[in-house]
Amino acid sequence: MDPLLKDAYSATRFRESAHRVVDILADHLEASLAGKKPQALPWIEPEASLAYWQSVGEEGIELEDFCREVIDRSVQISDPKFMGHQICTPAPTAVIAGLITDCLNNGSGVYEMGMAGTAMERFVIQTVARQLGLSEQASGFMTSGGTLANLTAMLAARAVKSSREDWSQGTRGQLAIMVSDQSHYCIDRAVRIMGWGETGIIQVPSDDRFRMCTAALPELREQATRAGRQVIAVVGSAGSTSTGSFDDLREIGKFCREEGLWFHVDGAHGAAVAFSDRTRPLLSGIEHADSVVIDFHKMLMTPVLSSGLLFRNGEDSFRTFAVEAEYLFAGGAERDWFNLARRTFECTKTMMAAKVFSILAVHGTQLLRANVDRLHELCRRFAVLIRQRKHFEIATEPETNILCFRHTGQAGVPTDLNALNNHIRQRLTQAGRHYLVKTTLRGKIWLRTTISNPFTSETEMVDLLDAIELVAAESGAAMMS
Ligand SMILES: *Cc1c(COP(=O)(O)O)cnc(C)c1O
Repeated sequence: MDPLLKDAYSATRFRESAHRVVDILADHLEASLAGKKPQALPWIEPEASLAYWQSVGEEGIELEDFCREVIDRSVQISDPKFMGHQICTPAPTAVIAGLITDCLNNGSGVYEMGMAGTAMERFVIQTVARQLGLSEQASGFMTSGGTLANLTAMLAARAVKSSREDWSQGTRGQLAIMVSDQSHYCIDRAVRIMGWGETGIIQVPSDDRFRMCTAALPELREQATRAGRQVIAVVGSAGSTSTGSFDDLREIGKFCREEGLWFHVDGAHGAAVAFSDRTRPLLSGIEHADSVVIDFHKMLMTPVLSSGLLFRNGEDSFRTFAVEAEYLFAGGAERDWFNLARRTFECTKTMMAAKVFSILAVHGTQLLRANVDRLHELCRRFAVLIRQRKHFEIATEPETNILCFRHTGQAGVPTDLNALNNHIRQRLTQAGRHYLVKTTLRGKIWLRTTISNPFTSETEMVDLLDAIELVAAESGAAMMS
C-alpha cells in the first residue's frame, strides 16, 4: 500500500489532530458565546476570499491552522451579536454527533446500509408527530433542507390529489396550489419544477399582520376553476420567513377538508414552537395537515441541514415516487418504514437523524423547549426595547424569534426611508460588529433580525440599536448640510 494511504488513515494521527482541533473549537465556542469576538460578520469580499482559499489549496496547510483559518474567515453564528438569518447556534452535543456519523459514514437510504441512522430517524419523526398532535398513522422521514422537503410534499400532494398520471406520463393540463403572498420562494419554485408554470401558484393576499386572508380562499378557488385550473392543495405558512407570521391553520384546514384539497403546512421555520406548551397554540389546527415540514436547523439547535417531512397519513408518503429502484428495494411493494429512499429524493443520504436524535436522547425535549421559549422571550423583549426609542417602527408584533423594524428618520429631516434603511444595513454589514439582514414588505425596506442565539441578551440588542441610531444620525446630518 502507498504509505500516503497508511498515513492518512493512521489512528494515532486521527487521535492527536482531533484532540487538538476540538481544543481549538472549544476555545472558539467559549469566546464566541461570551460575545468576546469583535465581529459577528468578519466580512471578506468574495474575490479576496477566493484568492485566499485558492492559495491555501495550492500551497497546503496543517490541519490545526486550517481549523483556525476557517473559524476566522466565517460568520460567527455563536456570537450573541449574530441576529441575521434563521440558522441556529448548534448544540455542542449535535456537533459531536456529526463527528461520529461522519466517521462511520453509513447512509440512511436503505436499511441495510444504515441500521442505526434509519431507526433514529423514525424515532425523531415520531417525536415530532407527537409534539404536533398528529395521529398514530403519521409517518415521514428526514431530508436535506426545507426546500427539498416542501418540493417532496408538493409531489406527494400531486400523486394523491391529481386524477392524472403525471408521474408516468408527464405533466399535462393545469394544476395549481394556493398559498399566501408571504410564502417562502421555494414553494413557487416547487410548482415551477413540477412544470405547472406561473399559473400554478394562486397567491392569496395577506392581512396587516402578514397572515393569509383565509376568507379569500373560496372566491380565488372559484376564479381558478373558471379559468380551467384544478386546485389541488393549500399551503399554510407557520411561520412566514420574512416576519415569522403564522397563518390560521384551523381555517385553512377546514377549507381543505370541505373542498377535498391537500393541506400542507410549511413549518420549516415555526413548527419548532410545538416543543413548548407556551408557543404551541400558534400551530392550532396543524393536527389536520396532510403534510408538515419542519427544519431542525432553525430553532432546534441542530447543525445544517436537518429537516423533517411528516404525513398525517403515513401511507401517503409512499405515493410520491411510484417507480422503485428494484436493486435497492428487493421485496417488492411493501410499505416498509425502514427503506427511506423509497420516499425521499436522496439515494445516498447522510445519517442526518443522529444530530437531532443526540439532542433528544442526551438532553430530552426539555432542552428544545427551553431554547424555543428563550428565543421567543428575547424577541418580544427586543420589540419592547425598539418601541422605547423615538425613531423606530416595527412591521408587526413578533410571533416567534423573527422581528422586522426600521428607522423612521430624524425629526424634521425629509428622508427616503427605504434608502436610509438600506444604507443602515450596508454600513452595519461593512462594520461587521452585528449581523442583521433586510427584507422588503409591500414595497418598504425593513431591517430583519432573527434572534437565534440563546446567549443574546439586552446588551447586544441595545448595542445594535445604538449603532443604528448613530448611522441614521450621521446620514441625517449629511442631508442637512
Ligand atoms: C427557511 C425556510 C424554508 C427553506 O428551508 P431550507 O431548509 O433553507 O431549505 C422554507 N420555508 C420557510 C417558511 C422557511 O422559513
